[in-house]
Amino acid sequence: MGEKAGAQANIKVSVLPCQSYDSKLLDRCIAQAARDAGFPDITGKRILVKPNLLKAAAPDEAVTTHPKFVAAVLRFLWKQKAASIQIGDSPGHQNGKAVGKASGVFQAAMDGKATWVDFSPGNPRPAPEAKLVKSFKLASALDDCDLVVNLPKLKTHRLATYTGAIKNLFGLLPGLAKSSMHLRFSDKIQFGTMLVDLGLSIKNCFHFLDAIVAMQGEGPGNGEPFPLGLVFASKNAAALDWVAASTIGYDPRRIPYLVDAIQRNGLDKESPSIDTGDYTIEKNRAKGFRLLPYTAQSNASLSEIPHYLEPLALRFLAERPIFHKELCIGCSACIRICPTDALELSRLKDGKFQVRIDDRACITCYCCHEVCPVGAISIAKIVWRPSQQKKKK
Ligand code: SF4
Ligand code: SF4
Repeated sequence: MGEKAGAQANIKVSVLPCQSYDSKLLDRCIAQAARDAGFPDITGKRILVKPNLLKAAAPDEAVTTHPKFVAAVLRFLWKQKAASIQIGDSPGHQNGKAVGKASGVFQAAMDGKATWVDFSPGNPRPAPEAKLVKSFKLASALDDCDLVVNLPKLKTHRLATYTGAIKNLFGLLPGLAKSSMHLRFSDKIQFGTMLVDLGLSIKNCFHFLDAIVAMQGEGPGNGEPFPLGLVFASKNAAALDWVAASTIGYDPRRIPYLVDAIQRNGLDKESPSIDTGDYTIEKNRAKGFRLLPYTAQSNASLSEIPHYLEPLALRFLAERPIFHKELCIGCSACIRICPTDALELSRLKDGKFQVRIDDRACITCYCCHEVCPVGAISIAKIVWRPSQQKKKK
């Protein structure tokens, strides 16, 4: 997660206005943000750049880190006399290079003289400060780098509520290792704790958050672009995410993994000592940013249900994926990503595709919602839907 603070430390987060992806504007902004946030001396150092390449999407869809943002960071890193720059990501169900090409990030990397790396097969790395996961299998490229430069995109997120610096590091797990984490930590609080464990295990890290055009609504894969016009930078992912989530209108004290992260960085969640210079969240809070509701960790309406029925009720009251056959193009992305094999795709007589879900197998990780390329999956509370049950083989 980068530099960890002592109990009373003042952590710096730089927040700068940047209204477009104009290269000259970006060069100035990245250099100043780095200066303000205490970017380290990287003379002769080996750098690994980690953008957000969730899935194949054009740059203006705000699904991925913008290629011009990546290009500006690469120019900055060479100017700071980096010895080498590797770049890559590991999307859950697609090839990293293919997503890089679709998003323009691969071309930006080639133009910026960085080396594209595959994160597979991954090597075990200890996480000594972890509460839950004492060792992660992470991108092999980490073994050959002195500093990770994390380039997340600011987005809403169905599972995590908000995604920025901490969540983007989850992509350091190669390919389907991410699915097994969803399976292992189907409890949303535990999943968040695992994310913080992972972040704290990456010691040398600096974060530039692309919030020039952020994603609102059905993030992280199917929301709409929102021109926020900001760049955030920090050595500390928890502090950066705290400020960024507050800026778009969330109360980070209601997002458990952000609370866990801020406390494990020695800060008080009621008034964390974060130095943002002249930037004040109150004056700059985004107006009209469409937020997702806070992810339910448990269900309040269960209070009216007898205790002995609670486990059963939880299954059917939690928010679950709803599949819209009028939009589905039958690509199977949801089937491939589902960690519990809860989905089945079939073709109907009228030629349309239908995805059936086994509600009992679904762990509400929302990975299917993230990867659907056409927004054919929504998330909603259901009570019972016998007609949607996946047919047993
Ligand atoms: S159906 Fe979707 S939300 Fe449910 S477990 Fe599978 S991927 Fe996760
Ligand atoms: S619901 Fe979406 S991801 Fe699943 S098969 Fe249909 S189009 Fe593909």
